Amino acid sequence: MNADADGSSGTVQCCIVGGGPAGMMLGTLLARAGVRTLVLEKHADFLRDFRGDTVHPSTLRIMDELGLLERFLERPHQKLEVIGGWFGKEHVQLGDFRRLPARYAFIAMMPQWEFLDFLADHARTLPEFDLRMRTEATGLLEEGGRVVGVRARSAGAELEFRADCTIACDGRRSTLRAAAALAVEDLGAPIDVLWFRVARDPAELDNSLARVAPGHFVVTIDRGTYWQCAFVIAKGGADALRARPIAEFRAQVVSAAPLLAPHIDADVGTWDDVKLLTVAVDRLTQWWKPGLLCIGDAAHAMSPIGGVGINLAVQDAVAAANLLATKLRAGTVGDADLAAVQRRRLWPAKATQAAQLAIQDNVLVPVMSGADSELTVPLPMRVLTAVPLLQRAMARLLGMGVRPEHVHSPELA
Ligand SMILES: Cc1cc2nc3c(=O)[nH]c(=O)nc-3n(C[C@H](O)[C@H](O)[C@H](O)COP(=O)(O)OP(=O)(O)OC[C@H]3O[C@@H](n4cnc5c(N)ncnc54)[C@H](O)[C@@H]3O)c2cc1C
Repeated sequence: MNADADGSSGTVQCCIVGGGPAGMMLGTLLARAGVRTLVLEKHADFLRDFRGDTVHPSTLRIMDELGLLERFLERPHQKLEVIGGWFGKEHVQLGDFRRLPARYAFIAMMPQWEFLDFLADHARTLPEFDLRMRTEATGLLEEGGRVVGVRARSAGAELEFRADCTIACDGRRSTLRAAAALAVEDLGAPIDVLWFRVARDPAELDNSLARVAPGHFVVTIDRGTYWQCAFVIAKGGADALRARPIAEFRAQVVSAAPLLAPHIDADVGTWDDVKLLTVAVDRLTQWWKPGLLCIGDAAHAMSPIGGVGINLAVQDAVAAANLLATKLRAGTVGDADLAAVQRRRLWPAKATQAAQLAIQDNVLVPVMSGADSELTVPLPMRVLTAVPLLQRAMARLLGMGVRPEHVHSPELA
């Protein structure tokens, strides 16, 4: 696709805003189907460390269906085959992926920039694909009550990109859904997350994901040479915590995750080493308006619980490509087609968010209140730990998600 002299493009068949999991997967699938596709991403690269690391079996299966799985797994990753954690002194085991089909019988713990970079590298080989980095959508172009593209800014220049259909994949703080004034239902997230790294002893055998002490919940993601750590705090509690000496924070972390003790002083020396990630859980009442569709977190912001948000965003992208690709190519996409994407993906989003809210309210909030100084393992976790069959069922549900999608969009590029 040739850029005009001012850097904007002629009319494309689909303009995708946001190069996260939803946008990059959708861009890849549409360009593969021969749809003239433009993806706008506001950052210069994918190298940001706040996006989560979990590539679930459902996403691995999509990569397999695209014939990309082997090459994808050449990127650095760790395989997580069982999910467990420490609840005080008791170890719980909640999911066992090893009975899923062998090619995706694990969660690939891969920094998200690797995943996005891989998709971008592949998509750039498709003639109908155009990715503009450092290009931030700032608003919608509307004519006669219909979205006909976006306004954007790149290197200080104001641009316009016209499109038969615009798809907002710009995440939980979506500029486009706000510009479209689509109604958002806030489902409530009582937590935020502090994110930091601590060196990992390569000989460490315990790669449990969750570590819980009274009042404290730490997630430790094995990234080979270091632990990517998340410390869960009550919503809005970051400022009060940051007003205290960093040593107090380190002590709280180590009370739940003693294995971090040897390196935490060196790696979390000041509050500058700790990043705040705010959590939101919400959903649009209607995901579309004429000419515009929202998917991924732009349609339904996900909590980090279960590490499913990336995978749900990818599933939305696959469903959208399945339902829209042929019509986008023919130039016949209408309101009913956009509504069909919402109909297909609303139930998985609702069910997954309901499960996240249940865990948030029944596990995280009681732990964080610190009221249970004995740390009683919740009954459902006890039952799961005792019954391997249930761990396999849980792994299937978590790994494949609700209503898993298959790639049906054509390969024409
Ligand atoms: C603290 C935290 C940890 C998480 N951990 C995990 C995890 O481990 N596993 C998991 O599966 N999920 C996790 N999630 C959820 C997950 O991050 C999201 O559900 C998922 O990233 C959604 O993908 P997306 O493509 O819809 O949006 P995003 O990943 O948010 O991508 C949106 C993209 O759009 C770009 N963008 C935004 N605005 C514009 C604009 N105006 N113009 C151009 N580009 C724009 C952004 O730069 C970004 O690249 C976590 C969430 C939080 C809050």
